[in-house]
Amino acid sequence: MKIYNTLTRRKEEFRPIEEKKVRMYVCGPTVYNIIHIGNARPMIVFDTFRRYMAHRGYEVNYVSNFTDVDDKIIKSANEEHVSCDEISEKYIAECKKDMEGLNVLPATVHPRATREIDGMIDLIGDLIEKGYAYKAEDGTVYFRTRQFKEYGKLSHKNIDELEAGHGRELKVAGNEGKEDYLDFVLWKPKKEGEPFWPSPWCDGRPGWHTECCVMAKKYLGETIDIHAGGEDLIFPHHENEIAQSEAANGVEFSHYWMHNGFLNIDGEKMSKSLNNFFTVRDISKKYDLQVLRFFMLSAHYRSPLNFSAELMEAAKAGLDRIKTAADNLDFLLKNASPGEEDPAVSDRLKEFTAKFDEAMDDDLNTADAVSVIFELVKYINTTADENSSLEVLNALKEELKSLTDVMGLIVFGSGEELLDKDIEALINERQEARKNKDFKRADEIRDELLNKGIILEDTRQGVKWKRAD
Ligand code: AMP
Ligand code: ZN
Repeated sequence: MKIYNTLTRRKEEFRPIEEKKVRMYVCGPTVYNIIHIGNARPMIVFDTFRRYMAHRGYEVNYVSNFTDVDDKIIKSANEEHVSCDEISEKYIAECKKDMEGLNVLPATVHPRATREIDGMIDLIGDLIEKGYAYKAEDGTVYFRTRQFKEYGKLSHKNIDELEAGHGRELKVAGNEGKEDYLDFVLWKPKKEGEPFWPSPWCDGRPGWHTECCVMAKKYLGETIDIHAGGEDLIFPHHENEIAQSEAANGVEFSHYWMHNGFLNIDGEKMSKSLNNFFTVRDISKKYDLQVLRFFMLSAHYRSPLNFSAELMEAAKAGLDRIKTAADNLDFLLKNASPGEEDPAVSDRLKEFTAKFDEAMDDDLNTADAVSVIFELVKYINTTADENSSLEVLNALKEELKSLTDVMGLIVFGSGEELLDKDIEALINERQEARKNKDFKRADEIRDELLNKGIILEDTRQGVKWKRAD
């Protein structure tokens, strides 16, 4: 398995610390609102990475945090007149619902910043002791950035460049206690109306960059295999994590750093602050969230990905093609008789697996892996028919299921049968409505079904329906 490592800017062979084990940490969302589909991108791609590693026989210890103390959470809490804890609880629950819809597996551990304050205080104390951090007069604790000689190694920035960019920052209010404008906050004093914890320096709360170091070490160890997140986290978040963690522990923090590209809209990063976002919840009103997952995996995770209605429609059509092949197999399997395995089919299927693995081994090239799935679908459509033996049909099914499972795509079962049931329930409801002369509701149902590609035909024998091609 080759992984593009942001640290070295090269694709490198993955060598785990412990054989057949992966220690992986993925920076999770700040839980002040429901997540947008940009936030869903790292969730989906790194979940797919995790599934693929498990498929290759690794035991993956996957830790992903919830940032539950932050300015935005405090603002939301004040706006909704509730505590920060209530805001976080609410949006963690909402986020978990979205993850379930996207078929993103729960992490091995989902730590929360506010539950790990003691660990953060220990780390900050350790950094002060080692000369890597200092307390300013107002109680703020800063990291002494220049003291960490390798600062900038992840983002490939050199300290002098940073100096040029931030020359005036020290004169800004709030920065008075800093020795150097490059220093960043580890602990900040409480303000009116904000949650706080006691510490040796002052009542206050941790800066954002400290939590991940503490949680990664606690749940995975001082050195981990992979640290991941969106590319906006490279600087300063991950750079600052490396500085704190390596200064305190004296060992490398993470061997590999993986970063996903942005989900854009009209060429701009989708984000809450630009107000150009769709939430996962918005999308779920129009599409099965499997379509969103498939859309994300149709691109390479490091490429920027533009979100558009056309591309979502294309993703839907693509996923439907796979589901149709799956349904056809299930249909044929109902009436198939035992016969013989076909070595030619088995050999061909091995080729599909090899090609799929080759794509995924190349820095998780899900775009190529999706092409292999489409080739497999084509092969299934030309190979499987009423004369195929049970063994052959099962082999085809197993192959399609294995590849789509790795992608976290549910293409068997749930699909048609459930959908058929839903359609029939709606048709019955429409008949009821018509009986009650509620023609408005009847038409609504017809339109709703039409939107989903279901065409109704009122015949003398009753209502017939078919799927639009
Ligand atoms: P945040 O809640 O802003 O800390 O974001 C949680 C995760 O979502 C981080 O890994 C971000 O890098 C990632 N993220 C946020 N916006 C986007 C986007 N438009 N495209 C891809 N990833 C994003
Ligand atoms: Zn983080």
